[in-house]
Amino acid sequence: MNVHEYQAKHILSKYHIPCQDFRVVSRVEDIEEAIDSLGVTEAVVKVQIHAGGRGKAGGVKIAKTREEIIRKTKELLGMKIVTKQTGPEGIICHKVMISELADIAKEYYVGLLIDRDVAMPLLMVSSEGGTEIEEVAEKSPHKILKVHFQIDGTIDEGSLDTVCRFLDWTEMTGEEGKKMIRNLAKAFVENDGAILEVNPLIEDKAGHLWALDAKFSIDDNALFRRPEIRAMYDQTQVTPAEAVAYEMDLAYIALDGNIGCMVNGAGLAMATMDLIKYHGGSPANFLDVGGGASKEKVAKSFGLILSDSNVKAILVNIFGGIMRCDVIAEGVIEAAKELNIQVPLVVRLEGTNVEQGKELLRKSGLKIIAADDLTDAAKKVVAHADTSK
Ligand code: GDP
Ligand code: MG
Repeated sequence: MNVHEYQAKHILSKYHIPCQDFRVVSRVEDIEEAIDSLGVTEAVVKVQIHAGGRGKAGGVKIAKTREEIIRKTKELLGMKIVTKQTGPEGIICHKVMISELADIAKEYYVGLLIDRDVAMPLLMVSSEGGTEIEEVAEKSPHKILKVHFQIDGTIDEGSLDTVCRFLDWTEMTGEEGKKMIRNLAKAFVENDGAILEVNPLIEDKAGHLWALDAKFSIDDNALFRRPEIRAMYDQTQVTPAEAVAYEMDLAYIALDGNIGCMVNGAGLAMATMDLIKYHGGSPANFLDVGGGASKEKVAKSFGLILSDSNVKAILVNIFGGIMRCDVIAEGVIEAAKELNIQVPLVVRLEGTNVEQGKELLRKSGLKIIAADDLTDAAKKVVAHADTSK
């Protein structure tokens, strides 16, 4: 789950990471009060959206007078921002950060993520801050330093010295830098981070370091134990389909094919997608309804799949372990009737109460194409998606 820059900075402040002071407004009538309480006459105003590259898209503006702060904040409120990361449809900005203006001498990049290959957190730093790190990685990889740190969030002194040497941080800046990296590593681990990017981390003219920007993405699988982060969820920043998936606790990812998939278990969902591909088709989504899905969840899942107009056929592939096949069948029947499903529906059921499930489907009067096994199911759904083009 992504959080906004202002939320990330709230978290970082708790770890004593210096950030410029700011206020966040979502209504025009609150702008003046925000400026007063911040006590500034110049500021940087930034759209709060779940995407990077805001600066290039016109979502970060420097304002040198009170009037300019008001005018530019008004401009940004409600603005549609299109960046490389939002896709062409863009994201609407509902909140604007009004922040103290920083006096930038140098911009650095700092990123923390999980390196799955070695099962350790990884710190990446570069003197090429402010720019896109993907570009630096491609064109001048030697300008990025990578160091692993411990899963408990500690980072050894030797690594910190290496970072300081690499970024040419000496004396006071070096001390501040070490403290900042230590605290960033701690904040990352203690909040179950997936990615934390401070780009840029800046050095001001007096040699002090600040986190000027912050992008924090939290591991979804850890949200159950991070209620304070879960509360930061902003449904205005995700697609309608993603919002439904979040509410229903479904793992749903839209893809660009035409075969809708409803599967229980992430492994089975991956295998199903592989088989569809193998037989010449293309999945429209990844959808894991989970182990203990209810009738309602199954019905909602159909709604999600059908909200994608590219879907030409649906494959329901359920292994009933914890989940009973008859419950699934009831959900399928209910949803098919309620949503008036017109596309071919291929169903493969296996496991607990499979006979009762199949019987329910047979008696339902729905045009359901039964499949005997996974390969049979994949072949059938690919054939039907093809013919219903
Ligand atoms: P992003 O484009 O979404 O990554 O947004 P950032 O918050 O990183 O801002 C983009 C760029 O705007 C930064 O790399 C800076 O160059 C510039 N910028 C942002 N805040 C300030 C500021 O307080 N002072 C100055 N001088 N430049 C800033
Ligand atoms: Mg940035």
